[in-house]
Amino acid sequence: MKFQVMAIMLVTVLLLACGSNHMEQPEESRLLSVVTTVSPITSIVENVGGERILVRGIIPEGANSHTFDPPPSTARVLADADLFIANGLYLEEPAIEMFNANHGDGARAVLLGELAIAPEEWQFDFSFPEANGQPNPHLWPDPILALKYAGIVRNALTTLDPEGAIYYGANYEEFRLRIDTLDAAIKTAVATVPEVQRQLLTYHDSWAYFAKRYGFEVLGAVQPADFTEPSPRDMADLIVQVRDLGVPAIFGSEVFPSSVMEQIAFESGAVFIDQLADDDLPGDPGDAGHSYLGLMIKNMVTMVRALGGDASGLGAVDSSLVFDGQSHAEYPG
Ligand SMILES: [Zn+2]
Repeated sequence: MKFQVMAIMLVTVLLLACGSNHMEQPEESRLLSVVTTVSPITSIVENVGGERILVRGIIPEGANSHTFDPPPSTARVLADADLFIANGLYLEEPAIEMFNANHGDGARAVLLGELAIAPEEWQFDFSFPEANGQPNPHLWPDPILALKYAGIVRNALTTLDPEGAIYYGANYEEFRLRIDTLDAAIKTAVATVPEVQRQLLTYHDSWAYFAKRYGFEVLGAVQPADFTEPSPRDMADLIVQVRDLGVPAIFGSEVFPSSVMEQIAFESGAVFIDQLADDDLPGDPGDAGHSYLGLMIKNMVTMVRALGGDASGLGAVDSSLVFDGQSHAEYPG
């Protein structure tokens, strides 16, 4: 008798626990759980997965994604994932190791950068020298490669959730149309930049694939491969180069504040613009422009204007979510 009472109490407690959880998050228990790394990738996955997935980024915006070491609490988030989507190409090694050590049965990892291009297409340059064997991992500032990422995401989601195939396909198509508009707007804007000024000197080395796509020359990146500061010799060379070429502006980002860039600008006569970003989305989570598309629009307006071109066509690109309905995306602050 006593055992029966206890059993009933236990069942009641369990039902109450399930009930309250269920009331707070009515659908989330049925959603596919996807964990991502940097925010541009989270945004691409959010757009393709739409209402059918819960997507959680684990690398905070404003953090240095190249050196970010997830806290131990992230292991639980990774253990709950049905799917882990990262850039790869050596960008998020500690996070990938943590996934490999903690993932649940049947969970799989997708490394977008490694699937989007072949090793022959890897670019090695200033901060990512070939001698280190690790290519420049910043594929997504090239929108055509970002679209490839979206296609890989669509396929991975469809494999896990075949009932969502048509839905994921429709979201991908809408995203493709946005990318087409963005790509055309970038081409139009770049054409207004005097050809001799299509030169990029940035602090963080994230524009290699973009530059190749749109006909820019990357003069250099100031940040050394080990994320320290450049040598006085390297700086002197860059100052001469920027001055001789008459480059009107050089670029940094808020994630990597650097007095070195101010000095190069001061001594070369260029303007220093510290507003380019590769993984720090504009605005706050929930804002329409807090997205991959919003990031690229902001970057292009900043870059093209500073180099003497007309960026007004970028206003035609819609940076909001491609699907109607409830998003379940978490961007860590
Ligand atoms: Zn980066």
